[in-house]
Amino acid sequence: MLSGHGFFRAYLDKIGKVEKPDCVYCSKDRDDALHTFFECSRWIAERQKLQSEVGGLRPETIIDVMLVSEVHWELIASYVETVLRQKKVEETKLAARKSAR
Ligand SMILES: [Zn+2]
Repeated sequence: MLSGHGFFRAYLDKIGKVEKPDCVYCSKDRDDALHTFFECSRWIAERQKLQSEVGGLRPETIIDVMLVSEVHWELIASYVETVLRQKKVEETKLAARKSAR
């Protein structure tokens, strides 16, 4: 999940699926796992909800936080899933809109 693969434009760019690796939601020029889960403004609400439940989240500590308890694990896994699912839906819509033009 934090491998950098999956639905990240930096990865899609590397394999030639998109023209630019930039984030479609904000001005960040590189959309990867780190940006999506820890920085991107699009997911502030989801991130804040998660942080209110498991505490502060940083890339260096997220694995430790996940291992605190099964509940923590589930909460973080569900955050990751929600974000990725939503991202896929929205980017598919954006791509369809672009090609329809
Ligand atoms: Zn972004």
